[in-house]
Amino acid sequence: MIKFRKLILRTTLSLMMALPFTAQADLVVLQYHHVDDSTPPATSTSRSLFEAQLQMIAELGLEVVSLEPAARQTLAGDAPKTNQVAITFDDAYESVYNVAAPLLDEQQIPYTIFVNTNSVGGKGYMGWTELKELNRKEWVTIANHSADHAHLARKPGEAEADWNTRTNRSLDRAQSALETQLGTTPRLFAYPYGEYDEALEQKINSRDWLGFGQQSGAIGRHSHSTRLPRFPMANAYGQLNSLKDKLLSKAFPVRASSLPDGVISTNPPSLTIKLNAPLSASRLACFASGLGRIDFRVTGDTVTVQAPKALNARRFRYNCTHPAGDGSFYWLSQQWLNLDAPED
Ligand SMILES: [Zn+2]
Repeated sequence: MIKFRKLILRTTLSLMMALPFTAQADLVVLQYHHVDDSTPPATSTSRSLFEAQLQMIAELGLEVVSLEPAARQTLAGDAPKTNQVAITFDDAYESVYNVAAPLLDEQQIPYTIFVNTNSVGGKGYMGWTELKELNRKEWVTIANHSADHAHLARKPGEAEADWNTRTNRSLDRAQSALETQLGTTPRLFAYPYGEYDEALEQKINSRDWLGFGQQSGAIGRHSHSTRLPRFPMANAYGQLNSLKDKLLSKAFPVRASSLPDGVISTNPPSLTIKLNAPLSASRLACFASGLGRIDFRVTGDTVTVQAPKALNARRFRYNCTHPAGDGSFYWLSQQWLNLDAPED
């Protein structure tokens, strides 16, 4: 408890120093797929790591909250004084039902499962019986992850009418399956593969849904409601030595709607960020997927970040961090999507 009070005091002080950019704390959303020791390592969090992560959240005195109300409150600039955490699982795998859910349910810790509805009942996935059982728990939310788990950004050469038909169908069939099976339709959407373009964001926005990607970072009042970040928590990313920085991270105080949707036209892409006080270029550090730390150019209050060479992956990221006081960091993750690269 003493630890917890100290944390509040320290956080409050650092927030006061950082005004007017972060008068409130931020929401950190964790993204999981499998929680098990025997599922594919790249998308799995081991049971012991998952338990240790929950333990760290508790030790830091951070509250785990329900995703939709907390995200809407944070976007409205109305978040509480200390960071909050939300837990999400994509794809509704059986391991979540067997391993993660019992651990969370025991303490009634809120969580959200994003379901690609065509896969429900398939091998390795939960069935509607399991989803209904979980959905009856007050602290559980079951939400939309599309019907077909397709790459939903418009493909090169795809006619606009065809794209409209296929994406509307995928979004709306999933939502109506949730409504029919569970009687609930949260206004939440997780992009399959974390892929989106601006036109898809408009579809999410016109439905008044919140759109969640797979780029890292905290959600703050400058975040964009259709490109909300989440920290991946699979074994490779969720290790405890970097978890504290993530849990205490702050949304980068740049309006996310002023950043690109990430669909690249040149490779390597270039990201321009205008820095306002308290940000200064001298304290900024930027990294590119697989390349480690990369340089950036400074012109007045504007920073241009560009990797030194083209990146081969379909999706990759530039991450930038900047001290936010008291050992915490402002965290920006810009996702890039190369639609010409093969789909996975
Ligand atoms: Zn998925």
